[in-house]
Amino acid sequence: MQTWERSSPSRAKIGVLGIPYDASSSHLRGAADAPALIRKALHSDSSNLWTENGTDLGAADLLADAGDLAFKSDQSVLDEIEQGVSSILKAGLSPLCLGGDHSVTFPIIKAMSTRYPDLTILHFDAHPDLYDEFNGDRYSHACPFARIMEADLATRLVQIGIRTMNGHQREQADRFGVEVIEMKDWNDEFLVTPDRPVYISFDMDCLDPAFAPGISHWEPGGFSTRQVLHVIQSLHAPLIGADIVEYNPRVETPITGMVAAKVLKEIAAKMLEAHDKHGH
Ligand code: MN
Ligand code: MN
Repeated sequence: MQTWERSSPSRAKIGVLGIPYDASSSHLRGAADAPALIRKALHSDSSNLWTENGTDLGAADLLADAGDLAFKSDQSVLDEIEQGVSSILKAGLSPLCLGGDHSVTFPIIKAMSTRYPDLTILHFDAHPDLYDEFNGDRYSHACPFARIMEADLATRLVQIGIRTMNGHQREQADRFGVEVIEMKDWNDEFLVTPDRPVYISFDMDCLDPAFAPGISHWEPGGFSTRQVLHVIQSLHAPLIGADIVEYNPRVETPITGMVAAKVLKEIAAKMLEAHDKHGH
């Protein structure tokens, strides 16, 4: 992966942005350490940079690394994330953001929605993250999709992997018209096939903790790695941006970093299919 400065703008199509922020995590800190470790896993000698559809992300020089955001102050975190994503869009690249806890998705989508006003968000998560507030914090990692939907930043929100629904979040889902597909109802034939641009928000805890234990909230009964790769690979819609969040390297096991890197590669492959048609 080339650095932001060195990459050739004519060839690079995806801008990778690290967002090392975990102060809105309600249970454990640690997700801020993830971006560096996902990069390390991506470039690990134990694998290669080819995606399963036959694209060499390394040789083709398709990823430009914008580095990690260095926050100036706690008060301006949301604005700084939004600006970071906007600068990637302005450079003509499709943003692929590495969290961080899930609170980062609200400012990311603020930036995305100015470019793509009719966004469909495909949200992978064990949790709906629809709380109006959590422990007094409206910007908690338990709340981003409530903020996104009440600000009308997405036309459609489709949630998959969900297995922690409760009364309050069910009311919120109904209020915002969220399409929740709970894990108990999962069918591998699931397809999202809208014409409009799709953004993927990928919370690592959508996976069963047996596959990716390095997360802050272990919620058994989730996806296998192959199941989520299948959903990504079978997406029949232009994928114009994504985030991979909630990997917590402080919890344990480098395997989770390898899973995050695998998901990154397959998301990148799908984003490349859309970039020439929908990128700028
Ligand atoms: Mn989440
Ligand atoms: Mn989650």
